[in-house]
Amino acid sequence: MATIERAEILSIGTELLLGEIIDTNSAYLAASLAEHGVDVLWSQRVGDNRSRIEAALERALERSDLLVLTGGLGPTEDDMTRESIASVLGETPGIDGELERWLRDRFSRFARHMPETNLKQAWLIPSAKALANPRGTAPGWLVCTSRNGSPRVLVALPGPPQELEYMWQNEVLPRLKFPAARLYARIFKTHGVGESAIAERLASLTAGANPSVATYARRDGVHVRVAAKAETIEEARRIAKAAERTVGHQLADTVWGYDNDELPDLVIRALEVRNLRLAVAEWATGGRLSGTLANEWRVTGRFEGGVAAWSFEAMRILGIPRSTMEQGDPESVVASLAEGVRNLFATDLGLATYSAASPSSKNEGSEAVAFVAVVDGDGTNIRRCSLPSQGRTWQQERLTFEALVFLWSHLH
Ligand code: AMP
Ligand code: MG
Repeated sequence: MATIERAEILSIGTELLLGEIIDTNSAYLAASLAEHGVDVLWSQRVGDNRSRIEAALERALERSDLLVLTGGLGPTEDDMTRESIASVLGETPGIDGELERWLRDRFSRFARHMPETNLKQAWLIPSAKALANPRGTAPGWLVCTSRNGSPRVLVALPGPPQELEYMWQNEVLPRLKFPAARLYARIFKTHGVGESAIAERLASLTAGANPSVATYARRDGVHVRVAAKAETIEEARRIAKAAERTVGHQLADTVWGYDNDELPDLVIRALEVRNLRLAVAEWATGGRLSGTLANEWRVTGRFEGGVAAWSFEAMRILGIPRSTMEQGDPESVVASLAEGVRNLFATDLGLATYSAASPSSKNEGSEAVAFVAVVDGDGTNIRRCSLPSQGRTWQQERLTFEALVFLWSHLH
């Protein structure tokens, strides 16, 4: 098999075009191909329409070494990936005896009758090799062909992501030949500075292609990715080194993590290292903060628990009198919440979120100001956060992130 330099992804299904299903398969495949040094120059979605699928296939065969198709391998009339590939290559599909046995056996093992329409899933064309699908009934196809004298590889995989991902890893990747080039990438995760301000700080670096420096605004702040390509990973790392050092230096005051770091995990680890226990009081985050922390498997013994409430009456559980909630300025309320929950759970640290507008108030998504407080034995720290009008869910997620960053920096 020839080396794959350039790939193209074709996601098939009308539901993708209607926005009913998000095309996560193409993101998964694109990330994996990039990791293997392959350039993905086109990625598109096509409905369940044979002439349009065939037109997309024709185009892709002209310009890409590898074409990965996802979806349309089901047993029904509107699953047309096999027919389209066969037609574009001028081949005729036929039932493969071995695949038919496998398919019938699979149905009988689950004590199910096999509708004859499923026989389509046992089809092959002469230039296709079947790719086993232990997680479903649709085998994939690996087709080696050529166009204008250049070798071409077509891979067809079923749409359900758990089937596709398994088959990509176990059936497809081992059979493909990738460029010697390896990709090295380092991601800096930042907080507190906007994407354009970061881009400005890094202006001298973002023009280059190798190494490349790019910024992405994400839910957990702006990410900066430094990447380099070379024949070996050591060489790629060497090419990235100077840019990586400059980025690290320029962003030193804003970075909270790298690569796969996630903030809740870093916070729990910091509590672990310092042998501290935390409790949380939530007015403005509606329980999200506790939910996020509780997702961490190491949480036991570090995060004791939380109180989420949005009525003055309910907050009395923290021993905060109604008058404080009603008349106090937001800074003193958020400080009382953090102190109250720290006392209630008898922990080292109390963390609280508060905003003067109740989280269930009607002005959905209007701009809001919220406060975060951290209380420990030494005193209280408060941060004011302005939350742009992007909907309540977004604001609560944002404030959850702000609270975690604030606690994280308090612990460092
Ligand atoms: P299909 O293989 O076309 O019959 O698709 C079966 C199911 O897989 C769809 O109903 C979706 O739930 C899922 N699926 C199909 N294509 C994609 C895609 N590109 N990304 C994520 N899920 C998909
Ligand atoms: Mg489909």
